[in-house]
Amino acid sequence: MQTITLLGATGSIGVSTLDVIARHPDKYSVFALTAHTQIDKLAAQCQQFNPQYAVVADQKSASRLQLLLSDRQSQSGSSTEVLWGRESLCQVASDSAVDTVMAAIVGAAGLVPTLAAVEAGKKILLANKESLVMAGGLFIQAVADSGSVLLPIDSEHNAIFQCLPEDFKTSSNNGVKKLLLSASGGPFRGWTRQQMASVTPDQACAHPNWSMGRKISVDSATLMNKGLELIEACWLFDMPASLIEVVVHPQSIIHSLVQYVDGSVLAQLGNPDMRTPIAHALAWPERIDAGVADLNLFEIAQLDFERPDIESFPCLALASAAAEAGKNAPAILNAANEVAVQAFLDQRIGFMQISDVVEQTLNGQVLIEPESLLAVQEFDEQARLYSSAYIKRLEK
Ligand code: NAD
Ligand code: MG
Repeated sequence: MQTITLLGATGSIGVSTLDVIARHPDKYSVFALTAHTQIDKLAAQCQQFNPQYAVVADQKSASRLQLLLSDRQSQSGSSTEVLWGRESLCQVASDSAVDTVMAAIVGAAGLVPTLAAVEAGKKILLANKESLVMAGGLFIQAVADSGSVLLPIDSEHNAIFQCLPEDFKTSSNNGVKKLLLSASGGPFRGWTRQQMASVTPDQACAHPNWSMGRKISVDSATLMNKGLELIEACWLFDMPASLIEVVVHPQSIIHSLVQYVDGSVLAQLGNPDMRTPIAHALAWPERIDAGVADLNLFEIAQLDFERPDIESFPCLALASAAAEAGKNAPAILNAANEVAVQAFLDQRIGFMQISDVVEQTLNGQVLIEPESLLAVQEFDEQARLYSSAYIKRLEK
């Protein structure tokens, strides 16, 4: 039996994870579920999975959840202890009773609890790519120090993981020449900058193939998601950005590929459903049913590929440059992007201004190697202040 803490249980990845877990009650038990604001949803999840702990953002949310649960618990006899705040997130991520932590909080907020799980030597199922983008060097060092097992949930990275030789990290590349990172191209593939200037948040969040949270949906529309994934891949597979190529593949059936020196290219295919990488990582090195429909190649019939359009989607170029620059550039990029995406979702800036905010913020900071978590948090904070001030000027 694997005991699991699910950070970000009420999100898109959280819900898909619970769907897979529910199919295998003999294999997985839930230790803790966490959520930020969706208290009713979390209460329903607690009722179904009966975790030992539920963690929410603040005391007010905790009281509300407690009230909802006590009504239900008096009937069912179950008992979930309600906690709140960041310390509690770290506590349930590192508790000695926990084997596996699904890191599915969105954005920089995921960094500290995910690192707590890493430091406690847990098996980490990493959906929260932002934590690796912000603090890749410290994160990977912490994985090595604690002996934690790090498995990618991002569909592209999970695909690459499946196509790489098992002993890849410890060997001298095993004939791997290049990683090919799939990108759907998002809802605005083929659009000009002019066409994208007036798109709304709802248009940006309507992804053609994947159903996801709003932040990652906007990132997919700007191609910043692919940029963050490029940085994520560098850290996960210890590869330079120059050996990772983005391939736009609009059907999202091939989730990524690995090219070998002998001309072989291995790919992982599947329907675009996050339950596949989630089930893969949960059961690894075994395989379990994920509830995903069989891939029907006859129905798909055609797979297309094209180069990314970095003229119209400057976020990808900005992220590539940050990957090359290293130091705190990815952390600055990530912070500026989070602030800009929120401002776009709040309809304070236009879609094409997201890249402006990121570029200006990167230009306005000094590049320094972050030596500690505290330093990463300071760079993150400074970049957020800079971006917010720049957005205020744009609004005038
Ligand atoms: P989401 O917005 O649907 O859910 C986010 C979860 O994080 C929620 O449970 C929310 O309560 C919690 N949360 C939000 N802010 C928080 C805070 N400040 N403190 C604590 N908890 C907080 O997001 P999602 O689409 O599930 O994505 C989660 C992560 O997985 C992101 O890093 C995303 O990039 C990554 N990811 C998602 C997908 C996908 O298909 N959705 C695919 C690949 C990677
Ligand atoms: Mg992805």
